[in-house]
Amino acid sequence: MTRLVDTHCHLDFADFDIDREDVIKRASEAGVKYIINVASSIEGSRKSVGLADKYDPIYASVGIHPHDAKEANDSAFSELKELAKNKKVVAIGEVGLDYYRNLSPRDTQQETFRKFIALAKETRLPLIIHCREAKEDLLRILKEETASPVNGVVHCFPSDKELLKAVLDMGLYVSFTCNITFKNALGLRQMVKDYMPIDKLLLETDAPFLAPEGFRGKRNEPSYLTYLTEELARLKGITVEDIARVTSWNSKKLFAIGEAVGPDDTSGNSAIVYPIRKSLYINITNRCTDDCVFCVRNATDYVMGYNLRLEEEPTAKEVIDAVGDPSRYDEIVFCGYGEPTLRLDCVIEVAKALKAKGAKIRLTTNGHGNLIHKRPIVGDLAGLIDRVSVSLNATSSETYNRICRPSFGPRTFDEIKKFIIECREKLPEVEVTCVEMEGVDIKECERLVTGELKVKFRPRRYNVVG
Ligand code: SF4
Ligand SMILES: [Zn+2]
Ligand SMILES: [Zn+2]
Repeated sequence: MTRLVDTHCHLDFADFDIDREDVIKRASEAGVKYIINVASSIEGSRKSVGLADKYDPIYASVGIHPHDAKEANDSAFSELKELAKNKKVVAIGEVGLDYYRNLSPRDTQQETFRKFIALAKETRLPLIIHCREAKEDLLRILKEETASPVNGVVHCFPSDKELLKAVLDMGLYVSFTCNITFKNALGLRQMVKDYMPIDKLLLETDAPFLAPEGFRGKRNEPSYLTYLTEELARLKGITVEDIARVTSWNSKKLFAIGEAVGPDDTSGNSAIVYPIRKSLYINITNRCTDDCVFCVRNATDYVMGYNLRLEEEPTAKEVIDAVGDPSRYDEIVFCGYGEPTLRLDCVIEVAKALKAKGAKIRLTTNGHGNLIHKRPIVGDLAGLIDRVSVSLNATSSETYNRICRPSFGPRTFDEIKKFIIECREKLPEVEVTCVEMEGVDIKECERLVTGELKVKFRPRRYNVVG
């Protein structure tokens, strides 16, 4: 059962007066385990806390929407501060700027937003930020006011790559609504597909607003979060379960609600094996002979909602036991949160055991195996590894050294090329990947890989699993 978190809806609105209980029940039947009821006024903040007190799955935020910024006087702030003491209040919001409807004067909106940022810092709660046609002022105020860090999410995110980059650079989360399913939301979908890192992604309905395609013009409700989840899974090329796990984990990190990590990791223990799509990934080491500037290990212990930071490297037997029956998966992958060939014996022992059970096996590697073992190792993998993905990320030794900072120094790049050619000769399927990032000429990489090395090329988006 999927476990989703609707991080933004307004069940306190009169739209839900006739059937609020049913709406909450339908949400839980649809797999929406937690709901954050987001306040937009003083009265709404009181009601939001009331709902959180009454219903287990509901959490609350307190705040005043920029439309009503003019009602945010001192007594309103003291009341909100009191309400924020409630254990189920997990955020300050929704607050921000709305220059689309301008229902409060712009300078009042700005002043109130600054006060809410201060309140978030004081209460140590994250911000739920609303921004409509006010990008420049929003970013300026956030930069000025968040010299000491404040966490938060920009909700109902629009199709705006520049804003996305700026918000992500500030470390903020981003949430999308069901408007991503609208027929005409082509730009928004493309932006999510190409640029949205899932480790900053949150789900929201913003109900009663923005019902998904097929229900447009009708009232939205948290159970419709499933439509958003399906669309996001399609865009990112992963499963609904993957989206659910990652976004639940993100909600936990930002709002501290729910247990919500994953089937192998409900307690935050590190994962030796973890499923993504129909593949099972194996995590045997966190050590590596590269130190790539983009390496996910430097940024987080968590990949796709799984804790990959190993306390101890597992033995081959532990790995084989953890995999169980490999026929449940399309492929078993030695993952790249560390360099698997540093543990060549373990790779071989595990691959032998799994191969005997009919598994299809892929190795992701930095291609340093020969350097690590001071001998050609590809022959050892023949008959065991069906597919190998070598990350190259450069077209010259100089670029490779700058981006991947290998422990073997300048000779590494040429040794990887030799390794790839050996793989081509001895293993059924070889692909070479390059991460798309500034300073890497992807077209040039492709020419090198398909022309000189004569193997398959796969560009990899930064922050997207391969
Ligand atoms: S090769 Fe992979 S694991 Fe090693 S530093 Fe680079 S990105 Fe990280
Ligand atoms: Zn809003
Ligand atoms: Zn809202």
